This record gives sequence, structure tokens and C-alpha cells, in this order.
Amino acid sequence: SVKVYLLFNLLNSMILGAITPKNIGDKRTTLHPQSIKAVLDMGIKVIFESGIGLQADIPDKALSELGAKSLSREECLKQADIILCSEPIKSDEIGLIKKGSSILGLLEPFNNKAQFKTHAEKGINSISMEFIPRTTRAQKMDVLSSQSNLAGYVSVIESAKLLNSALPMMMTAAGTLKPARVFVIGVGVAGLQAIATAKRLGARVEAFDTRPIVEEQVKSLGAKFVKIDLGDTGQTDQGYAKELTKEQIDKQKKLQADVCANSDIVITTAQLFGKPAPKLIDKKTIERMKPGSVIFDMAVESGGNVEGSIADSLQNLNGVKIIGYSNLSSFVSDHASFALSNNLINFIIDFYDKENAQMNFDLEDEIIKSSMFVKDGKILKK
Ligand code: NAD
Repeated sequence: SVKVYLLFNLLNSMILGAITPKNIGDKRTTLHPQSIKAVLDMGIKVIFESGIGLQADIPDKALSELGAKSLSREECLKQADIILCSEPIKSDEIGLIKKGSSILGLLEPFNNKAQFKTHAEKGINSISMEFIPRTTRAQKMDVLSSQSNLAGYVSVIESAKLLNSALPMMMTAAGTLKPARVFVIGVGVAGLQAIATAKRLGARVEAFDTRPIVEEQVKSLGAKFVKIDLGDTGQTDQGYAKELTKEQIDKQKKLQADVCANSDIVITTAQLFGKPAPKLIDKKTIERMKPGSVIFDMAVESGGNVEGSIADSLQNLNGVKIIGYSNLSSFVSDHASFALSNNLINFIIDFYDKENAQMNFDLEDEIIKSSMFVKDGKILKK
């Protein structure tokens, strides 16, 4: 009967839990009040570590008013059937998690392989959001895109703050102020948003990427595509750039140096999936740039595109400011949390089996197949 069914569901509801990142630079929460209604409506219980949203100015009350429950970190780890996180969970805390529970989040799999062995030993499932495929169906779960987009915006805002000039052209009685020249190297998700943001602020924008397909996108944003013929470059079937040969990189560096020398702001976003970022700007190029100009190395966390850039610092080379900030989406932590939470909750909704009040991790599904690292004690990827 309906009553028995309801009672069964009440006793059997799945618990979704979220914990605060330990990395103090990560100011995001994986549960945003504007996105949890959908899971609560499905009968999923939601618990979260007290204070989880404080760095994004989201008080516990904003979540608890909706029906989510604030608990200690330990209780969250113990009770949750699914744990949302924006960083890998350290091995000393894995022991708190129930066997059969799942970890869903940004697990940085390339740098943290050992965690999967621990998960497998403890019978905990793990899913890395970095490996959500870049298909149309999975777009709403694509954490890399949602965060890169905001990072691209932040890179322009932070560079603009450090530039001693305004970005737009201004014709004033005191004279004409020239627009700033911005050069964006690498036009993936972050690069496109950097171009769009710089354009909105009135800068003259140029951009380059090794994937020729990008030229159209650059032009559609009103920016100029810098033509550098590197011969065969291409992209992988997931749309990622292929690694260039040493000769190609040398040629690229040489030809783009002139554009850098004429730019006020250079933003580099070039990344190779799972590999160190290509080194694209060396000291020789920086020495040709004007004092007061700004370089923002968005690839600093994966090795950097720029010689001399250092993570989380501002360097100065002959008056050229080199920014290497990390955790960029956390500069706009409310929006970053909203997007991240939506991505994770979209995943939950798509793979939630309401009848049995549990997740259905079907390895035949391309999204699960691509993102699931550990299932039922087995490591699924090398
Ligand atoms: P990314 O962060 O891996 O790299 C950033 C950019 O750097 C890329 O555009 C890459 O081509 C470029 N790059 C690499 N080496 C370079 C070099 N030597 N010089 C200049 N540029 C260089 O990229 P991303 O933002 O994650 O996007 C990767 C791809 O995925 C793109 O094709 C993007 O359109 C695609 N994508 C598709 C979907 C979807 O369909 N759902 C969603 C997001 C992204």
C-alpha cells in the first residue's frame, strides 16, 4: 500500500552529506541553498558540516531553513551515503566513512592516486568529477567548465586591478585614453570567458590557441585571432589540445613574443589534460614587455605557462607583474559554490534510483564509466 511504501522510504532515505574543504584557499561550499531543493524534494536527506558556507557568506541557517541538517565533520562522514567534496579526503578520515558509501567530488586524480587504493580497501566508491565526459548530456555536471569559466572572469578582474591604466578607451577633455591591449593565450572555457570579460571592460583583445577550431569563437566575441602557423596541431576526441613538439613550441614562443611586447595584460590559460602545462612565455619575452604590464598565469597550479610565475604570489620582473594566484573561482565564492553545487546535484539527480533510495552506478552509462574510479572494492582505472 501507499502507507507501507512511504514508511519504507522514510526509513530508507539516502543521506547526502557535504564537508568543508581543508584547503583554506578553497572558499566554496559543495551545497548551495539555491540548489538543494531538488534533492530534498526527492526524499534525500541532506546533512552538512557546520560552517560549510561561511567563506561564501552563506550562513548555516540558509541551508537548515530548507531542511538540511548541520552536524560536526565527523558525524557527516559517518552518516552520509554520499559525501560531496571539493578536494580529496585525507586517509585518516576515510576510516570514518561507512562501507558502501560513495565519495563524489573533485578528487584531483592525477596527483592523488593513492587514495583510490584506500577507497577500494574500505569498500568505498569514488567518483571524480574531473572525469565527467565533455558531452552535451554531461554539460550540466561539468565542474571543470563551471569553475574555469569563473576563473577566466577573475583573471581579468585581478589583472585590471594591478594595471596602472583603465581598460576602456575614454575620450576626455584631458585627452584620449587609449584602450588596454589584452592578449589571451589558450582559448578553452577560461580563455573564452577572459576574452568576453576583457571585451566588456572595453579592452582591445587578441587571442591564440593551437586548436584552429577556436578562431571562429574568438572572432564571435569581437576579438582578433593571432595567426601562428604551427603545422599539424589538432585536438583529442574529447576536444583537448594535443602536446606540441619542441620545435612547434619554440616557433609559437617566437611568434607570439611580439604580441606580448605590445600588450598591457597577457593571460595564459594553456593546459594539457593530465599533463604539465606547456611553457610558453620565457624571461626573454618578459624582458621585451613594458614596465607596468601584467601577466596572469592561469596554469600555475599545473606547472605554469610563464617562466618565474609562482603559485599564490605576485612576482615582479623588470616592472612586469606576474600573477600566479590559485583557487581562482574562490574569488567569487558564492557563484562558484552555486555552480559547483548545481553540477554535483545534477549528477545525483540523474543517477538516483528513487524506488530503492540509493544511487545507481551503472558502468554501462558513459558518464559513470568515465568518472567512476572505485566501485565495490575494485579500482576501475589505472
Ligand atoms: P584546457 O583547460 O585543457 O586548456 C585550455 C586551452 O589551452 C585549450 O583551449 C587548449 O587548446 C589550449 N592550449 C594547449 N596548449 C596550448 C598552446 N601551446 N598554446 C595555446 N593554447 C594551448 O581546456 P578546457 O577549457 O578544459 O577545454 C578543452 C576542450 O573541451 C575545448 O575544446 C572545449 O571547447 C571543450 N569543452 C567541451 C564541453 C562540452 O561539450 N560539454 C564542455 C567544456 C569544454
